[in-house]
Amino acid sequence: MDKRRLFLCHYPMITWPGARHQGLQLFGHVHQNWQGSRNSINTGVDVWDFRPVTLPEIEARAARLLVNAHWEQVEPGRAWPTVLCAGCGRILDPALISGQAVVRNGRIVVAATNETIVFMEKAMRRWLPEGRHVCPECIGGYLSVSEVTLPAGFSFDEIRNRAVPKGK
Ligand SMILES: [Zn+2]
Repeated sequence: MDKRRLFLCHYPMITWPGARHQGLQLFGHVHQNWQGSRNSINTGVDVWDFRPVTLPEIEARAARLLVNAHWEQVEPGRAWPTVLCAGCGRILDPALISGQAVVRNGRIVVAATNETIVFMEKAMRRWLPEGRHVCPECIGGYLSVSEVTLPAGFSFDEIRNRAVPKGK
């Protein structure tokens, strides 16, 4: 998993440890009355159809909630944290961050699973720093560059944005 900080408290909060770095705060107490605000999310069963939920489901909802109205007061001067593509600089959808591609150990990998999408040669490593996120369009573009190679026996599936075994 990517190292996303989780902070659990019975009550909802307007800032929390790691809030400036996409950290998540999980709370209950309010039952069905409120889903929460951006990255501070009600994980009570009342708002999840009385069933267990996975972290990706929680992250997806947390990313779509409104930033709380007091953010600017409690974190003055801190814009809501965003993640940018290291290739083209566009803002990446926070709902997709855990499914994003990220640079790790000289490879571009699926952030959540560490599956290798492409290997990078030296020049490419200087250009794409460790830990940065990369959008699907950029990865598709890099495949025409000799600095990038797919794992042996793999081809690139543009729809799934990952390397898949040839013939599948
Ligand atoms: Zn990009």
